[in-house]
Amino acid sequence: MRKAPLTVCVVGGGFTGAAVAICCLSRLDRPFHLVVVEPSTSLGRGVAYGAHHPLHLLNVRTRDLSVRASQPGDFLNWAFRQLDQGENHAGLHDGLAHTFLPRQLFGEYVRERFFEAVEGRGDLELKIVKAVATSCVKEGDRFALRFDRAETLQADVVLLATAYGLLSSTPTGALAPFDPLPPERINGANTMALIGAGFGVTLAAQSQAEVLFPGVVYKPIVEEDAWVQVELAWRPTSEDAAVGRFVAFMRDEARSRRLL
Ligand SMILES: Cc1cc2nc3c(=O)[nH]c(=O)nc-3n(C[C@H](O)[C@H](O)[C@H](O)COP(=O)(O)OP(=O)(O)OC[C@H]3O[C@@H](n4cnc5c(N)ncnc54)[C@H](O)[C@@H]3O)c2cc1C
Repeated sequence: MRKAPLTVCVVGGGFTGAAVAICCLSRLDRPFHLVVVEPSTSLGRGVAYGAHHPLHLLNVRTRDLSVRASQPGDFLNWAFRQLDQGENHAGLHDGLAHTFLPRQLFGEYVRERFFEAVEGRGDLELKIVKAVATSCVKEGDRFALRFDRAETLQADVVLLATAYGLLSSTPTGALAPFDPLPPERINGANTMALIGAGFGVTLAAQSQAEVLFPGVVYKPIVEEDAWVQVELAWRPTSEDAAVGRFVAFMRDEARSRRLL
């Protein structure tokens, strides 16, 4: 009797889900069913590379990103093809390599590569389940997956790519990554991070003063012209955009206050 094709189920359709699916599509050398479970419409984009403001930039240079493990520089080449009108502008490719492009664009690239990989496999059956996976239980030598709004599914292989979890709290009360912390969670903490790390003193927002920790006192900064000396040290060879922007911001601030 011919064995039924393998069913591979990827739960979570962000960057990791897309990358692992692309990997299966390029490496599994027999027909298989691929199921991707993703409740949002942002398949391949996930939390980081969805519909953000175009000014939300990647924190990694274009040249250093690729969803294809065997092809470093793939994102750079993809981005170059979006811009190049065949005019062969000298240096455009090299210039682009050093940029920090909008995160949205990276999401578009990942999504495109995912669907290209799917199209490249004539022997594949793809199913996208637009739902939240609520449980995954081993039944014999397969897995049974249950969803909030879809039929139960049996799979041979389940790959969890759910990262930070869902963007909003679940009905069971699980905390989503961007939810505000409720007081009972805060009260469970036993000190503040920098004080616990031995720094002895830290700046805190006024709202934090509601939370009392043994041995910690809050002192308001009342002077209008309160100031604190900040020493800034960084490696001049650092290519990190965040460092560059922070140093530029501090320099501008210092100049505007005539401190430099
Ligand atoms: C605002 C922001 C900006 C970032 N910028 C960068 C950057 O510039 N460069 C960089 O390298 N990294 C960046 N990161 C880190 C980034 O998150 C990771 O690089 C990567 O995108 C994580 O991908 P992921 O697939 O693991 O997670 P996610 O993108 O979170 O994808 C997980 C997916 O799983 C789905 N999911 C969760 N639970 C379930 C469930 N029960 N059932 C079904 N689906 C489920 C979610 O809907 C989601 O789409 C950033 C992160 C954030 C939050």
